[in-house]
Amino acid sequence: MDEADNFNFNKYWGPDDYRPRVVFKRGSDMQCVYCGEPANTREHCPSKVFLTKPYPSDLPVVPACERCNNGFSSDELYTKAFVEAYEHHCSYKSKTKLSERKEVMEAQRKFEECVSSGEIHFDDKIARILIKLAVCHITYELTTGFHTDSWEGIPEYVSYTFRPNMTTEEIDSWDDFIPMNDNILPVIGSRAFNQIYVLEPVMSATEGTGEITRPFAVMDWIDVQNDNYRYVCWLDGIYIHVKVAIDEFMYAKAVFKHKDN
Ligand SMILES: [Zn+2]
Repeated sequence: MDEADNFNFNKYWGPDDYRPRVVFKRGSDMQCVYCGEPANTREHCPSKVFLTKPYPSDLPVVPACERCNNGFSSDELYTKAFVEAYEHHCSYKSKTKLSERKEVMEAQRKFEECVSSGEIHFDDKIARILIKLAVCHITYELTTGFHTDSWEGIPEYVSYTFRPNMTTEEIDSWDDFIPMNDNILPVIGSRAFNQIYVLEPVMSATEGTGEITRPFAVMDWIDVQNDNYRYVCWLDGIYIHVKVAIDEFMYAKAVFKHKDN
């Protein structure tokens, strides 16, 4: 009998309907969300480098192996430093003071190269971190393990852009609720399900316009920390979509696909 069988869930977590999903218990046989190896640490997602103090007390946590948990921090600092270098360039007030670590210097150098060449190059380190963030948000919100037979943590695509390169319409569309339909309603009981709103249009606003008057469901963003980090993820048929906004300055999207299709 393994340890999970011995663990008295009823005693600690109450009735079925309210019982949270255990994503980590020290010494249990949890899998690392990134590589599938046994997890012996827990990791905050997003990492604190993307947030400012005081940190939210209820940061999402996912199980990770020690190698993955430590293996991303250098590129995470690099990513944050790149965003800040760009913000600084645009005279945005910096919220944090990053230390003079080599990752920070490297990110500043890379950003300067982009400025000289007149375009922001796609950066593999940043993409690696965006994929990593997407995987932990999906695992946490949609209760989808990545290391199963049907899913893999390899995205169909990942893309990102920065506020100065977006039109007003593009920025506005980032804030939209995600419309839901029967295909994409999250699993009842998953965390994402709590982000669903059912909205009913006001009659006077839609009368004679031919607009929808029936109630409709949408999914809202999850604000981890105001102005610093928010995300939303949803399942649509064979695809999982994730959107992340960092500092309200960098906007990223990743899409993952079901393995069998
Ligand atoms: Zn791992």
